[in-house]
Amino acid sequence: MTVNLLDLDAAGLTAFFAAHGEKPFRARQVLRWLHRFGRADFAAMTDIAGSLREKLARLAVVRPPAMLADRVSDDGTHKFLFDVGGGNAVESVFIPEEERGTLCISTQAGCALDCSFCSTGKQGFNRNLTVAEIIGQLWQARQVLGAYQGKEANGERVISNVVLMGMGEPLANPDNTVTALRLMLDDNAYGLSRRRVTVSTSGLVPAMDRLRDECAVALAVSLHAPNDRLRDELVPINRKYPLRELLAACRRYLEKAPRDFVTFEYVLLDGVNDSAAQARELLALTREVPCKFNLIPFNPFPGTSYRRSSAPRIRGFAEILLAAGVVATTRRTRGDDIAAACGQLAGQVLDRTRRTGRRVIDLRLERQEAGA
Ligand code: SF4
Repeated sequence: MTVNLLDLDAAGLTAFFAAHGEKPFRARQVLRWLHRFGRADFAAMTDIAGSLREKLARLAVVRPPAMLADRVSDDGTHKFLFDVGGGNAVESVFIPEEERGTLCISTQAGCALDCSFCSTGKQGFNRNLTVAEIIGQLWQARQVLGAYQGKEANGERVISNVVLMGMGEPLANPDNTVTALRLMLDDNAYGLSRRRVTVSTSGLVPAMDRLRDECAVALAVSLHAPNDRLRDELVPINRKYPLRELLAACRRYLEKAPRDFVTFEYVLLDGVNDSAAQARELLALTREVPCKFNLIPFNPFPGTSYRRSSAPRIRGFAEILLAAGVVATTRRTRGDDIAAACGQLAGQVLDRTRRTGRRVIDLRLERQEAGA
């Protein structure tokens, strides 16, 4: 059976070469060719002996997910759609800004957690993405954006930040997420700083502890409610890991985190979680956790009964947080909306959970194409 080398981090490649009687340093060489230089053809790996290159061609492949589409907006935002087989497709988004370039990637085809306001959740769940499918989104985006063709020669990074905030709950796919994160941080691969890689979670407490111990990167938490009663409804995983446990896990995480705060994401839903009293309740709830808030105006999708909060209501909510000395940003631009919380990206999911009871065919992409 051939191995997809994009599924392996440095430890995995070392084990692969050991199993085939090769020296450990081969892992470092191949890692650099694959990820730093973006090469998929073994013949191009010129510092590797010809006999080993032939062996690799027999034993292994380099297979990222196929890119189905790359739509570029006027502001330079790219939306990539990737085929992950079986009728499923996931999206990544690249958002260029003056000081940085951020790629938002997906970790699952769909999501099983069924948050009530989330378009991804409503599409159901098919499966976890493999490491090659997760890291392959970065690999493919770098090809398209020219990162492998010398644009980074002067030290400028085309993709300086990666956020795991696309389709899926990254910590419900912890093994593959952690391996992909290790590749992002590895100096022989992408060499990203831990501060510039962010995992967004809805609050899977045991997996947050595991991430802290195994690969602590920056953390964002989808909070969305100031008390358990409302959060049980909006983010059902809260019934298993209520706020008290979630906030304690955030404090534990900060002991090893590369940043000294957690980002709380809060989608503002008109008349549901956006009152002045709820803003004050939120301040009291998070008093003990160094944090900042991303306030996200809700993007309605077909079939939802939630509405976006009015601009004055969003402003009023933010002002209460700001007046208490808490950093609170309100996301406005299209690209920022996308990379502000998990479940903000489109795709296509053949639901295996029977939640939808039918095939969901990329409603959001159809809407976007129709200019909605
Ligand atoms: S908000 Fe995040 S965790 Fe909840 S259903 Fe959507 S993708 Fe899953």
